[in-house]
Amino acid sequence: MKVKNPIEALAHLRHEFGEHGGVNMSIEASTTFTVMDPGTMPELFQGKKGPGSGGCYLYGRHFNPTVYNLGRQLAALEGTEAAYCTASGMAAISAVILQLCQAGDHVVASNTVYGGTYALLHDFLPIKSGITTTFVDITDPDAVAAAITPDTRLVFTESIANPTLRVANIPLLAECVHARGLPLVIDNTFSPLILSPKQLGADIIVHSITKFLSGGSDIIGGAICAEESFIQSLMDLHTGPLMLLGPTMDPTIASAISLRIPHLPLRMEAHSKRAMYLAERLQEKGHVVCYTGLPDHPDYQLLQDMRCPDYGYGGLLTLDVGSEEKANELMDRLQNTYRFGFMAVSLGYFDTLMNCSGTSTSSEMSDEDKTIAGIRPGQVRLSVGYTGTAEQRWQQLDCALQDIGVGRTERDPTMAGESSTPESVSA
Ligand code: PLP
Repeated sequence: MKVKNPIEALAHLRHEFGEHGGVNMSIEASTTFTVMDPGTMPELFQGKKGPGSGGCYLYGRHFNPTVYNLGRQLAALEGTEAAYCTASGMAAISAVILQLCQAGDHVVASNTVYGGTYALLHDFLPIKSGITTTFVDITDPDAVAAAITPDTRLVFTESIANPTLRVANIPLLAECVHARGLPLVIDNTFSPLILSPKQLGADIIVHSITKFLSGGSDIIGGAICAEESFIQSLMDLHTGPLMLLGPTMDPTIASAISLRIPHLPLRMEAHSKRAMYLAERLQEKGHVVCYTGLPDHPDYQLLQDMRCPDYGYGGLLTLDVGSEEKANELMDRLQNTYRFGFMAVSLGYFDTLMNCSGTSTSSEMSDEDKTIAGIRPGQVRLSVGYTGTAEQRWQQLDCALQDIGVGRTERDPTMAGESSTPESVSA
């Protein structure tokens, strides 16, 4: 199917000028807003009027203009009617689930999701609210259909799964889920711009802004993109989880993120280009590499059919070096000897971040669940950055793999000289 490039919608969006005509929107510092006519206040509380419906702003936890405007950018990016931002990706995910489910309801979710999402569904929600989840192989539509019960209220999956990089067939899932009258919720954190879940049939899209949307590993944030009525319902004075649990995004954060959205396309292209280069070089050398842009990836063709072709295949790849010990050795060499990147969780940073998912970002899962999902102990997840040159980064990676005795490559003489005096990472 032909998807529309989301940056067209972003370019069409009304530009918000600053209070004094500045090219950037102002940061609304107030937590409370003056009502000019006493009759308006009750209407705001009754939800009859709001910032987008003939009223005005009321209170910062409810709607803040700066956060609201960032939401307009994200709605354009995801092609949804509306969007609102939250204090973190987890706040976005939990708010959506709590809004769609009542106590005792049921969720069908992919068995390969970020460890925090897994813990929320597997451990937290059953105890706190009786909301239970059946985890399924999301690439198997029959398994998804079979897991849906009369109590199911939503189907949840990541577009590209953390950390297995399996790709959800969004059109097929949407068909299956809609046939049962349910919404399809997609976490699009791994593939902003590359995949447009709404165009592909999804209903609600969540993001951890903390990752690619921010790009600086300096901000925690999240977003929910959906129909206007759903976004409004999250703010309901009596039942809205954003209104009542209060995971509000700070307006200064919203302003900072808003200034980064315009160069998200350039950053996504750069991440994908570098990830593809490293993945191809690793594959040439016979390493066990998983990357959505390699034709031997099980979902290569599916992604090819769904993606916007301008942004490549994403910035994440995994490399299996056989054991946790080897994975740790590799990351140690890469960080402390070659300065290839950093041993750190998270993703979407301009430098490369690497972690062993099994013992970190997916450690919330039981060993059995990790095995079912295909998360192996020697698997290193790389969020590939775009600093340095591609060749320089490849040489660093290649040397570190040789150092730990994985692969069969010839060492570049310049790199060998550099690595003979390992640099310590100071501070
Ligand atoms: N979704 C995915 C796919 C993630 O990888 C993460 C965090 O790593 C989250 C959600 C949670 O986001 P946050 O850390 O912003 O709460």
